[in-house]
Amino acid sequence: MTTDKEQKHVERQKKLKASVDERIAAAQTEQGVFQVITGNGKGKSTSGFGTVARCVGHGMSAAVVQFIKGGWECGERNLLQQVGVPFTYMETGFTWETQNRESDTKAAQETWQVAKQYLADESIDLVLLDELTYMVTYDYVELEDVLTALKNRPKMQSVIITGRAAHRELTELADTVSEVRNVKHAFDAGVKAQKGFDY
Ligand code: ATP
Ligand code: MG
Repeated sequence: MTTDKEQKHVERQKKLKASVDERIAAAQTEQGVFQVITGNGKGKSTSGFGTVARCVGHGMSAAVVQFIKGGWECGERNLLQQVGVPFTYMETGFTWETQNRESDTKAAQETWQVAKQYLADESIDLVLLDELTYMVTYDYVELEDVLTALKNRPKMQSVIITGRAAHRELTELADTVSEVRNVKHAFDAGVKAQKGFDY
């Protein structure tokens, strides 16, 4: 015998399924997706790299550009380079600590030129532009240049931009915007950045 509660649950699930099915049937457009992952919480870059793993796992091609000088060893870079994913990062330039405008701009510009090549390459299914938001905020890379490259990219290519305080024009252009909110972070309780977890 089904109870009232069970019956209500079944009905609720049926309704939910109908509404989800309807929305799935309505989503028919095939195109690359531009996603911005921003906010002050932890999980922006790791989310971007998760999508890179998903893409590569399907035998598709991804490329990564990191816009922060690699101060420490980066686990995902080690792994992705082993499986042949093009991975470019700033060898000098912007870090959280030092900010020399001239050398930072030069380093950012050089790295951005590589990103632009990826954004023009039809054979790349997914481009991760990790921490690009800061380059725009600091004016190391021109916003207009970024918007143009994003708009002119191959139709089926997806792009993910990560970083705090994404410029409004980036989030406006994006198809998907996720904001990671900081509820709490181990660092605030004195826990050091942990290898294999934070980098
Ligand atoms: P992750 O790479 O872990 O996904 P993220 O990309 O969201 O983090 P960033 O702003 O790029 O965060 O920060 C890079 C480093 O700072 C990471 O080691 C991360 O663990 C740490 N971090 C992220 N958010 C916070 C926070 N709210 N407080 C302190 N440290 C943080
Ligand atoms: Mg990050």
